[in-house]
Amino acid sequence: MSHSLQSDERGIIQSCPACGTANRIAYAKIAQQGRCGTCKADLTRIAEPVEIDSVEAFAALVSQSPLPVVIDFWASWCGPCQIMAPEFAKAAAQTAGEAVFVKVNTDEQQQIAGQFRVQGIPAFVLIKNGKLAAQTSGFQAAARLLAWVRQS
Ligand SMILES: [Zn+2]
Repeated sequence: MSHSLQSDERGIIQSCPACGTANRIAYAKIAQQGRCGTCKADLTRIAEPVEIDSVEAFAALVSQSPLPVVIDFWASWCGPCQIMAPEFAKAAAQTAGEAVFVKVNTDEQQQIAGQFRVQGIPAFVLIKNGKLAAQTSGFQAAARLLAWVRQS
């Protein structure tokens, strides 16, 4: 399993690289350079997929994010989703500060998947300015996924 950042309805949780304190980055501020609330060290840019595990967190993210949001709908039983995970993480690492990459488990978050009528997974949804910009499905190498994000 590739590493994912956690989130809640107020933002993305990120550990300080200097002191280890868990900092919450508000969704509205994810494009900015964060600073640790405890030691004031610069936080690294959000360059990893973010796990979204509630309808409330999802709604807050898409309505407040100044960056395009790329959603990977996946499930633990889905083989192509497992193969996709490192490609999705690679794409996230290459677009730090440009887009935010999030993962939604379709078994646990059926309401979110239902909003986009997700059927076959992996499926990808691109949201810009709170609105659906594009939707696709099936395995994509990181470069192809990035091209889709940038052109849509
Ligand atoms: Zn710190």
